[in-house]
Amino acid sequence: MTDTYPVSTLRLPQGIAVSGMVDAPLTHRTWPEPPHPYRTAFGRDAARILHSRAFRRLAGKTQVFTPLPESSQSDHFRSRLTHTLEVTQIARTAAAALGLNAELAEALALVHDIGHPPFGHAGEKALDQCLRAHGLTFDHNLHALRIVTWFEERYAAMRGLNLTLAVREGIVKHSRDYSPSQHPELAEYFLNRFPPLEAQMIDLADEIAYLTADLDDGLDSGILSLDQVREGVPLFRRFHEAVVRLYPAATNKLAINETLRRVLNALVTDMLDAIHAQVRNLGAETLEDIRRAPARIALLSPAMEADRAQAKKFLYSRLYNSPGMERIHERAELVVRELFVALMADPTQLPPDHQVQIATEGLARTVADYIAGMTDSFIQQSWIRQCGAERS
Ligand code: MG
Repeated sequence: MTDTYPVSTLRLPQGIAVSGMVDAPLTHRTWPEPPHPYRTAFGRDAARILHSRAFRRLAGKTQVFTPLPESSQSDHFRSRLTHTLEVTQIARTAAAALGLNAELAEALALVHDIGHPPFGHAGEKALDQCLRAHGLTFDHNLHALRIVTWFEERYAAMRGLNLTLAVREGIVKHSRDYSPSQHPELAEYFLNRFPPLEAQMIDLADEIAYLTADLDDGLDSGILSLDQVREGVPLFRRFHEAVVRLYPAATNKLAINETLRRVLNALVTDMLDAIHAQVRNLGAETLEDIRRAPARIALLSPAMEADRAQAKKFLYSRLYNSPGMERIHERAELVVRELFVALMADPTQLPPDHQVQIATEGLARTVADYIAGMTDSFIQQSWIRQCGAERS
């Protein structure tokens, strides 16, 4: 984009931003707390999430690449933590450009993947299958809500992190909408209305972050070749051609990096323009207008959406579901399944605080909660210990 891009024209009507004022309804906490002398409600939420134990564990959880002890793969691939920080950067920048509440966007981005089990989506799938055999399901949004409202132990006077209603609503509505009839326990989260734009935007910031990062890590790993990416991702090819014309002497790696940051910038800029256009077309002036709109408003333009969908399709077929990755996924699923079965058979192996939970939550949910909290390396060690497994 050019230096003369009219950023000020992106700002949305002020009433659309979530109010962070002390008494605003979305700043309410389950346990009332006095306001901090100089920190805002959502700024405090972002800090509470950043300082939580579940947040630190993201460093040891798979985003796409699982660092296995026997593999010699590079140590600079994204983890769930660095992915989260990239989403946070995009969300904060985008919220500030649109005049939305950047501190709320930051808190929502920091928390958006906190409910992920070890081994990325393979781990989530396996855990869900284990629970289904007991009439339950695993859902990382609902697990994230359990972490922040219950599992985190930071305050003697209350459970969890005591986050504001806006952050808890954003956790519940990350990338999906729950029906009020199926989830009466979530009634306080306005299930029949759309979330504020700060929350809607996180889904796109997430997509933009992982799409560009996974092309980067996929190329770096050698699983994807430059020719494949150029052929399969037109958005990448267009920018790559321009970069090679501009810097004909640049190394392959530098040309890829120049291309990827242009792709990221183009996706974010398109998102900002598209949100702005949607709000204008709708005539929305208040948060309630956003909540009652006919559909979610945070979308890309139709042309960019086609590019995004194409890139995602490419990543699924050539990276996430590639033969090399499938072997790793199968092993991850085996580890989760076997450990789940072993702990169900011998609950005395659960730590004491989880054993207490069995009486109220049942054994299957308790075991799943324990496994979901593990990092990749911790679950591997537990599997070897519990299942006597030495297989690789
Ligand atoms: Mg994510």
